[in-house]
Amino acid sequence: MKRTITALFAIIMLLCMAVNAVSAAANQTVFLPGGDVYTLNGRQQKMDAVTFIENSRVFVPVRYLAYACGVRDGGISWDDFSRTVTLQGENQVLALQAGSNQLVTVDGPVEMDVVPQVISGRMYLPARWVAQYFGYTVEWDEPGNAVLVYLPVDGKPQVIPTQLILLVNKVQGLPEDFQTGPLVNFGTYQVSALLQQPLQQLYDTAAQQGIQITMTSAYRSYTEQKALFDEHARLYGLSVTEATVAPPGHGEHQTGLAVDIAGSDAAYRWLETNCPRFGFILRYPRGKEYITGYAYEPWHFRYVGVPVATFMQEKGISTLEEYLRIYAGQ
Ligand SMILES: [Zn+2]
Repeated sequence: MKRTITALFAIIMLLCMAVNAVSAAANQTVFLPGGDVYTLNGRQQKMDAVTFIENSRVFVPVRYLAYACGVRDGGISWDDFSRTVTLQGENQVLALQAGSNQLVTVDGPVEMDVVPQVISGRMYLPARWVAQYFGYTVEWDEPGNAVLVYLPVDGKPQVIPTQLILLVNKVQGLPEDFQTGPLVNFGTYQVSALLQQPLQQLYDTAAQQGIQITMTSAYRSYTEQKALFDEHARLYGLSVTEATVAPPGHGEHQTGLAVDIAGSDAAYRWLETNCPRFGFILRYPRGKEYITGYAYEPWHFRYVGVPVATFMQEKGISTLEEYLRIYAGQ
């Protein structure tokens, strides 16, 4: 450890000598835990990763936290060998290493009460420690469930209300005024336009690997969901139906973001393992009935986007309910 720290000092000193100060603009940034969007100076933008909360600490993917602190692309450098990131701002340089609680500055190391993490090959930094070092205030906005990063002289940035991930289950129904986004045809079914490309990629990859899958359901309207529920209840009784079919207004199929994909046991295993890299999660996993409210459904997949799906897989979180509660502070 001592040698690593010495090496980091050397890197920092070299940077100070060699790199001209990267001029920085003061930024006002809003990060929304659990989601893959952030707002930089009033403009909401997509990230290719998520902001998350763990043990009451907010973690932000390094690139976006750097931007928030006025560090430009040229001021971010990553050393693969030591898994260390160096951030060069206008007047400050600091280095952080994955798994180390040392925040290394020109004045010496500062001990943090948290460590940077690498998830899916990407570095996440503790927002507060880093931003404060660059002179920024970090504040939790309770009503907006958001993290504000700003310079005290500029005042607080505004939180734009954003629906990050639509949670639909037995407890939480769709809002009365819920509007399905644009739908597109996929085979003989309809899905949200958001799914078209990732679903096609999933199908193509499955085919390339000799996995046979068939879609058996996708978008269902409120009326169709009601008809399905009533028919099921007539045939199998209400208690069986409640464990397996969503009541109208509480079904993910109404969002256009869920698909049922049938296949062999091997196909189901393949889907469960591989669907996150296309942005899908197995929505009703085995053994989680007490959380999801539904029996295991190896065929039902919900689109949440690649950043969230891969994050959940890497962290071993198998339900959306747990993800939102543990990592999104909801
Ligand atoms: Zn389904």
